[in-house]
Amino acid sequence: MRRLSIKARVTLWYTGLLMLLLGAGVAYLLAFAGSLSGRQLRDALQDVVSEAVQAARFEYGELEDGDIDFYRDGVSVFLYDTDGRLLAPKVNRGIQIDALLEDQAVKTVEGNGERWLVHDLYAQQDGTGFWVRGIVSLSGTQGTLQKLLLLALVGVPAFVLVAALGGWRVTRRAFAPVGAMAETADAISSGSDLSRRVPEDGSGDELSRLAMTVNSMLERLQASFERERQFSSDVSHELRTPAAVILSQCEFALSPQAGEEDRREALGAILRQDRKITSIISQLLLLARAEDGRFRPAWERVELSGLCEAVALELEGQAQKAGVRLAAEIEPDVALTGDETLLMRLVTNLLSNAISYNRPGGSAVLRLWREAQGVLLEVEDTGVGIAREEREKIWNRFYRADTARSGEGAGLGLSMAQWIVRLHGGEIGVDSVPGEGSTFRVRLPDEPPKKI
Ligand code: ADP
Repeated sequence: MRRLSIKARVTLWYTGLLMLLLGAGVAYLLAFAGSLSGRQLRDALQDVVSEAVQAARFEYGELEDGDIDFYRDGVSVFLYDTDGRLLAPKVNRGIQIDALLEDQAVKTVEGNGERWLVHDLYAQQDGTGFWVRGIVSLSGTQGTLQKLLLLALVGVPAFVLVAALGGWRVTRRAFAPVGAMAETADAISSGSDLSRRVPEDGSGDELSRLAMTVNSMLERLQASFERERQFSSDVSHELRTPAAVILSQCEFALSPQAGEEDRREALGAILRQDRKITSIISQLLLLARAEDGRFRPAWERVELSGLCEAVALELEGQAQKAGVRLAAEIEPDVALTGDETLLMRLVTNLLSNAISYNRPGGSAVLRLWREAQGVLLEVEDTGVGIAREEREKIWNRFYRADTARSGEGAGLGLSMAQWIVRLHGGEIGVDSVPGEGSTFRVRLPDEPPKKI
């Protein structure tokens, strides 16, 4: 069975509750008012009758009725002798109640087409016995109660109807953005147009906050989709060149006119391209694992001074080939908790860039020292520098500012460096003067953050 809409359920629920509450309230009020007016009537009847008993005087068996109130508070008073004959009032007020006289009784009697409350008292004065009867009409209070009941029967449903209509309108308006959101979500999933956004009314209520959250989620989704798209096209682009080189070298080596020496050279070229492909793939795998959180760093105490010296020694050959003077200013015994392999990669990437993007006769300096809050690593070069507008982009995967020089690199080194620094809870930045050189600065804390 199809469930009712939330709007209908909410409206039904509070309308039902309202009706129940109002019904119970009105019923209680009517019952209370009925019993209250009944009690008041009864008290007034008893008061008037006992006062009439007090006021009645008999002299020589004759009634002196001058002090008796025959009509007060709606109560009519009659006096009878012991045989039940009417003694007073002398003027018949047109009310006749045929009921037996019963001492002290209070009873309801029908007569003259109405209902009456009747109270009788038997008394004696100067040896003369007499009856006093008080009667009061019940129709007055019942009429009022009936009017009240009628008012409630019309008023309560009318009020509930107005409340239901008002509530329905309010909930319909409040839920309108949900419909718009569903429509947008539908349009996105059917047309995969991630640039669409759900409407935000800026009211600040729960649904407008939800719309904002959905929009910012869509924003992130779109950005990540675009990154992925860019990434796939970059990967294929990066791998296409070495793959094409390998293919053409293989074809050449297999051709009959290729000599022994040519084949050796072709194999060398194939090896170099294969190394490049392997390095791109291994870096990409690492970055992919880093991004989806599968990478588990091997935290240990790393002697960073020794690590920096080893990297500088390793790159000495590359520096000599490029005609760059390599210097290391390393404070001894600087250590921190980190992943040794990753830190080695970080220092290697930065220092190797400082050599690659240098000029012959230039210099590259690797510095390391301890600071109050951790460790500072600096790699300074006298190379080509980085233009201001490039400084944000160099951290992106596959981004290469100077394509002429970075023939070997795939543009992954700095994005890897940035990820390693962030993993260790540090910061990385660059200062550069184009044409004069750049300084990459890395700040690392003593201990990596607890949760990554
Ligand atoms: P690549 O493999 O191209 O070196 P990186 O991610 O290490 O990739 O660097 C990205 C780009 O940043 C490089 O292509 C280069 O243009 C620029 N770059 C990196 N380091 C330096 C540097 N020390 N001096 C000048 N430019 C640099």
